Amino acid sequence: MTKPPMFILIKRVIKPIKIDNSVKKEYAFAMNLTGRQTQKCPRCGCKALLNQYKCPECGLVFSKLDMATNKAAAERYKKHERNKIIMIRKTPPDLKRWKLILYTVLFGLFGGQYFYTRRWWWGIFYLLGFALLFSLVYFNGYLMSTEWGETLVNVGAVFVGAYGICWMLDIVRVCTYKFKIPVSLPSENKVVVAKEEEK
Ligand SMILES: [Zn+2]
Repeated sequence: MTKPPMFILIKRVIKPIKIDNSVKKEYAFAMNLTGRQTQKCPRCGCKALLNQYKCPECGLVFSKLDMATNKAAAERYKKHERNKIIMIRKTPPDLKRWKLILYTVLFGLFGGQYFYTRRWWWGIFYLLGFALLFSLVYFNGYLMSTEWGETLVNVGAVFVGAYGICWMLDIVRVCTYKFKIPVSLPSENKVVVAKEEEK
């Protein structure tokens, strides 16, 4: 496969790929910047061809992922049904891609991208990273005046450095569809309620 020209690459980063053809929709989530012909099952990691509608290994129907939402994943997590949560790279229907990019760039150091995609634990890690960065800068004068403080600053700087690199990697991941977002199908009883309302 030849790589798409630069302007297509830029266009795809800014705008998600829109395919209205229902047949193509099934594989759309797996399309990435390099235009590869295989897709990786988000549940088991097994490789499937783009034209396969379900995973040959675990039987996950790929088109069902279009109905999976990030909100449902948070509900599953609360109910301790973590095995029903799937990490996908496509933006789910209840989230906005431009918002994700914006939050990553503007509030990335506070874990904005993780709070937005309801990956709370990672968000809290980022907040702790920011607290460390802030206290190292704020108390720098005092810490550097003592010997133990200097050691503390040196150790802390390693963590802050790692945290900064994580943030930059997140920006790259978000822009190249590599950032993982937890999704799940809404619980079954909710679907039944929705159907009853339709009647
Ligand atoms: Zn699978």
